[in-house]
Amino acid sequence: MRYRDLSLWFDQLSEPLTPRPALDGEVQVDVAIVGAGLTGLWTAYYLQAADPDLRIALLDKEIAGFGASGRNGGWCSALFPVSAATLAREHGHDAAVAQYAAMRETLSEVVRVAQTESIDADIAVGGTVVLARSQPQLRRAEAETAEAVEYDLNTRLLEAVDARARLNATGVIGATFTPDCAAVQPAKLVRGLAEVVERRGAAIYEQSAVTQLAPHLVQTAHGTVRADYVVRATEGYTARLPGARRAIAPVYSLITATEPLGTAVWDEIGLRERETFSDHRHLIIYGQRTADGRLVFGGRGAPYHYASRIRPGYDRVARVFDALRTALVDLLPALRDARITHRWGGPLGIARDWAASVGLDPGTGLAWAGGYVGDGVGTSNLAGRTLADLILDRETDLVDLPWVGHRSRQWEPEPLRWLGINGGLHAMTVADVEEARTRRQSLIARMAMPLLRRN
Ligand SMILES: Cc1cc2nc3c(=O)[nH]c(=O)nc-3n(C[C@H](O)[C@H](O)[C@H](O)COP(=O)(O)OP(=O)(O)OC[C@H]3O[C@@H](n4cnc5c(N)ncnc54)[C@H](O)[C@@H]3O)c2cc1C
Repeated sequence: MRYRDLSLWFDQLSEPLTPRPALDGEVQVDVAIVGAGLTGLWTAYYLQAADPDLRIALLDKEIAGFGASGRNGGWCSALFPVSAATLAREHGHDAAVAQYAAMRETLSEVVRVAQTESIDADIAVGGTVVLARSQPQLRRAEAETAEAVEYDLNTRLLEAVDARARLNATGVIGATFTPDCAAVQPAKLVRGLAEVVERRGAAIYEQSAVTQLAPHLVQTAHGTVRADYVVRATEGYTARLPGARRAIAPVYSLITATEPLGTAVWDEIGLRERETFSDHRHLIIYGQRTADGRLVFGGRGAPYHYASRIRPGYDRVARVFDALRTALVDLLPALRDARITHRWGGPLGIARDWAASVGLDPGTGLAWAGGYVGDGVGTSNLAGRTLADLILDRETDLVDLPWVGHRSRQWEPEPLRWLGINGGLHAMTVADVEEARTRRQSLIARMAMPLLRRN
């Protein structure tokens, strides 16, 4: 596998991407972490910060950052997959406010660590602008702003003129804006973090696919790790592990990147503070202006694959890339002639109730974190800090947050899972078409939403 082809972000790395040695034989550590993405690496980072003598081993079936962590859209946001209103309903108003406050602190924490550890991940804290380009979208923007007031969030409504000043797209009639997001180069972040934890003494075994994960035991084809604690940090790949088939569904998100654009094009488009951007349509799209002046633009819409299969070929779907290009030019006609230089994708992880969670079973020493949907860049840092506190048995505010210890129910067996997820994705596409035609809130979306997610 040519790891450089995984994403624009990997292609931009100057390191040779030679895999670290695989696990060979038996080792004994305090904490074994399966998956060397952001979740696994942040967990190792905070464990080391708390106790530099801890023996930590990370294992990855490919290389550090191979999964979603090295391929995502680069929004390090304060978004959380469960809405504040849902958290409040289930855990009370104060718990919802605390979860979202922790997410905002997380953004500052990622920026702080990158600076302290000299990880140059092209970070720009420019916030996020989410456009409203139709009346139904504006209604959703207004509802989101009202929720923000109730739960102490920073999201505010922008008039059309202020929205356009940030992102000069077609058909803009308003927007929501939050300052709580940074554009990052995710592969630089995750690979930089791997170097830091390795330098501090953690062992990272690459090309070491874990075949069994059990209390105090992790097994690969050529070795065994015995540990007091075993952390599962495999997100979209979790369903491939024995015993976890229905825990997290891998749903694909696909992305494209343009060539570096000229100053005249950027003067026309905006995004002067490198704001990340989206709009209030149902089928999610997302973008960022990169440090080298490209526009990275992605979205959902790729199919879920039967039995949670994951294959390299699923990262690239011509039909989805064409739809992304159409959506991009519709939004920003100035990009009509821009060359697309990179196309890629990968699986993110969704729990049955769309709830991200983090936890530790003290009886077995098994810990987990994930189910971040499309919000894992920031949330994985909160997960890492929380897992460190749980493993070290520290009574902090983090271990009291409502997502800690949450257990999502299992996904349905196939073929129901396949039908449900793909039916939902299709409903979102149709809902956007329906709204464009009728200019009213989509009936289909209103009917499908409760089936798809709980927030
Ligand atoms: C295309 C795309 C765009 C996204 N955009 C954003 C965004 O802009 N902002 C945001 O917040 N989130 C985004 N996300 C989600 C975010 O990237 C993820 O939530 C986050 O990176 C998850 O990190 P992780 O470490 O938990 O999982 P991953 O980064 O997926 O890491 C899991 C690791 O486990 C390894 N592994 C799997 N199976 C095994 C095994 N059997 N043995 C050993 N190792 C194994 C894999 O090789 C992988 O390296 C996006 C995701 C995708 C796919």
